[in-house]
Amino acid sequence: MGRSASHACRYPTSFSLRPPLKMIREHKVPTIFSHVAVPLALGFGLGRGAVPTRLLVAGVVAAALPDLDVLAFRLNVAYSHALGHRGFSHSLVFALALALLALAWAPSLRSSRFAAFIFLGLAAVSHPLLDMFTNGGLGVALWWPWSAERFFAPWPVIEVSPLSLHRLFSVRGVAVIKSELLWVCLPAVVVGFALLALRASSPTSRCWGGCTIKPRSLPELEP
Ligand SMILES: [Zn+2]
Repeated sequence: MGRSASHACRYPTSFSLRPPLKMIREHKVPTIFSHVAVPLALGFGLGRGAVPTRLLVAGVVAAALPDLDVLAFRLNVAYSHALGHRGFSHSLVFALALALLALAWAPSLRSSRFAAFIFLGLAAVSHPLLDMFTNGGLGVALWWPWSAERFFAPWPVIEVSPLSLHRLFSVRGVAVIKSELLWVCLPAVVVGFALLALRASSPTSRCWGGCTIKPRSLPELEP
């Protein structure tokens, strides 16, 4: 596991009475585009047979959902609190909960339960894992509720992004976008096309989503 952020935390560990707006402006995240790149690449590579449109949309939502925790700043919850940004919503337990919801609602997602669980789980867990590779903010509480410790990956290669759009479209924003193209979008495209090639070469590719393989009809014998 990478370096922990808890020892270097300069934020209070409980509810803060500090005005939250400054923290909202200053907190750092990968852009939303990076997070949704993962389910989009998987959906592209696996095809609609395995990832129907509804499941793909659910995956995109699951990949972006954890950052709704920035609303905690509005409620004066400290960054480093379990309910704060990159807290419980960035844990493996949270990703598992989303995957289990997808499993339960698989019929509504037009998917097999297995495909819904795996795809949603991968989409959801990709969010905190990507955040761990950023070089700013606090780490993620990956092991919540067993540990409140915040973690970074050993190689924080992704430039953190300012949340506000006007800051994103600046010189700093260009550096962020270049970093995300290199470290997130490019690998996602490679994975997507690799899955596409694998699917094209697989005789059972149409059944990756859990359908049944129909046996080939035998030629009728002459009487
Ligand atoms: Zn996040």
